[in-house]
Amino acid sequence: MRRSLVVLLLLVAGCESTAPPAAQEPPAKLAFAQQGRGATVPFVEYEAESADFTGKRIGPDRTAKTLAGEASGRMAVTLSKGDSLTFTLVQPANAVTVRYSVPDGTEGVLKVNDTELKLTAKYAWYYGGFPFSNDPSKGSPHHFYDHVRGLLGQTVAAGGKVTLSCECTIDLADFEMAPAALEKPEGSTSIVDFGADPTGAKDSSDAIQQALSTGDAWIPAGTFKVTRHLIANRTKLRGAGGWHSTLTGAGVGVYGDHSQGVHLSGFAIIGEVTERDDHAQVNGIGGALGGGSVVENLFIQHTKVGLWLDGPFSGLTVRNNRIFDTTADGLNLHQGISETVVEHNVIRNTGDDGLAMWSDQNANHHNTFRFNTVQLPLLANGIGIYGGHDNTVEANIIADILIEGAGVQVANRFSGTVPLSATTVLKDNTVLRGGSKFAGIQADVGAFFLFGKDSAITGAITLSGNSTMDSSFSGLHLYGSSMSQVTVERLTVQAPGTVGIQVQSMGAATVTKSRVEGGVYLCKDALPFTLTVADSTGLDTPACEGI
Ligand code: CA
Repeated sequence: MRRSLVVLLLLVAGCESTAPPAAQEPPAKLAFAQQGRGATVPFVEYEAESADFTGKRIGPDRTAKTLAGEASGRMAVTLSKGDSLTFTLVQPANAVTVRYSVPDGTEGVLKVNDTELKLTAKYAWYYGGFPFSNDPSKGSPHHFYDHVRGLLGQTVAAGGKVTLSCECTIDLADFEMAPAALEKPEGSTSIVDFGADPTGAKDSSDAIQQALSTGDAWIPAGTFKVTRHLIANRTKLRGAGGWHSTLTGAGVGVYGDHSQGVHLSGFAIIGEVTERDDHAQVNGIGGALGGGSVVENLFIQHTKVGLWLDGPFSGLTVRNNRIFDTTADGLNLHQGISETVVEHNVIRNTGDDGLAMWSDQNANHHNTFRFNTVQLPLLANGIGIYGGHDNTVEANIIADILIEGAGVQVANRFSGTVPLSATTVLKDNTVLRGGSKFAGIQADVGAFFLFGKDSAITGAITLSGNSTMDSSFSGLHLYGSSMSQVTVERLTVQAPGTVGIQVQSMGAATVTKSRVEGGVYLCKDALPFTLTVADSTGLDTPACEGI
């Protein structure tokens, strides 16, 4: 778990310091970092604003639809011609991924030591109201950032320096040791044997589909053009690693069709989606993939949703993936999905919820989102659970919520969705800078948000060991017509923007063994609610003010 601690350390340190992290400096924020939360990752994340730089630091500023407001830590660094930014690495690296922004309609070059990476505004800059457009005349620009990644051609040692220059804004950079390309596994069949073209010139869709019929297809190092859904069922599709084997093109995706026993591993899926069209099936992974299927070690970028999975099915594991720069959710388990585990994924810069379970017409149940790191959904929540039963959200780290969302939202929401029943568990999650304004209900949403929007929440919601720090508004927020089986244990709320716990619902909750700063907002005369508190601090005198 050490690396997940480093990530969190840098996330937290980013708000408070302009000094670069010293090489091998021991983590100084362990009290909040809380061992064992978030994804275990092969990289260390560095905030630009914590590096040495010329140019201009922007932020901290949480104003929606601003460059600083959309940045990790709500700060970034704008470099002009002649400026540079230098990171001092705490671990060796030969590869980098940078979150950046360039003005709309432009391209640019980012120099990283001697490596040049191409920048583009193509996947950023949305305008107008939901679901947004690329038309500047609609006004209200947002979604300013994108990621670029590349191999450095050398290994920079721990303590070594990496200098970036560009005419752009840099938010953060992930540095890592990209592994060498994996060898072709024994017994697998290379897609090249079926005519796939590793130069990316020729469309390889048909060749890869044919290779999948062998049941064990191999993607060697190379860039393969794919322009439609590849359908996988009872097959492996493995690559030489996310830095080496890439499927890319307009419409690229790997889909299940009532599929079972699919194993996807070790490649990148890079789409060309520049708008949100909810009728277009342009997701990285889609369809139904159950029966012990595994999706792991993928890098998914520039698709509509990273993984949009349609039930009913049971039994999928999604682990160790990076899902960046989508126009809608990072991952959505859509109706009737069960016994599915989503773990150790990093989800960043999504156009909607980072991770969602939407029960819609058929309850999702017995699924778990655990040990994921979700940052910067550009709309909505880090994690959203809409209806269903017996689902668990555990040990995730969620940071920087921007508009109309919480760190974690549990809701009866979206017309006709099967309501929450039995028990939903939120355990040991950490939310940093969570919560946001929410125009739909004219309220400022808390870091953890229980939302009885369409109907009273009659299912139980159990929260234990959750923490929130520096939320934009409240720490824990109960909102809606009624909820009566809410149990909160060992909740920590540090430095909330408004109150510690905000109650705008009828019903009842018990809170035990909790440390809550900011007090409780509760207007009993308007909404009868019974809050039972034991063995806690900061919850003595609920008041009808503070928000
Ligand atoms: Ca930043």
